Amino acid sequence: MTAEQIDRYRLILEGQLAQLAGTSETHGRLLDESHVTNDFVGADRAAELETFEVDASVAASEHRLAAKIRHALSRISGGTYGLCEGCGDTIPAARLEAKPSVSLCLACQEAHESGSESESGSGSGR
Ligand SMILES: [Zn+2]
Repeated sequence: MTAEQIDRYRLILEGQLAQLAGTSETHGRLLDESHVTNDFVGADRAAELETFEVDASVAASEHRLAAKIRHALSRISGGTYGLCEGCGDTIPAARLEAKPSVSLCLACQEAHESGSESESGSGSGR
């Protein structure tokens, strides 16, 4: 990978991170406000709690993505960006293009995902 390509990915990642930081700030403020109003409204409590839960899970997944992006950025400065963390192979450019924050090649990603589930579906022959 050329320095120019790496630079481009770094810009994309930094842009995504800035965007995430902006949205979670908004989320934080919204959560704060609904927390305050919850105290004296009380009636629409269930509805508010539902919104709260959705917001919280969105915030959690944004948090995970932000961590991934920061990790990718640290790999850029460490000079290992674009290399699979599983097998050390080069991650195909098309894959990085689609998702600049990935740190595993497709094969390792699939092995990782199937490894986290228990072995099922391969039995019951007949
Ligand atoms: Zn790999």
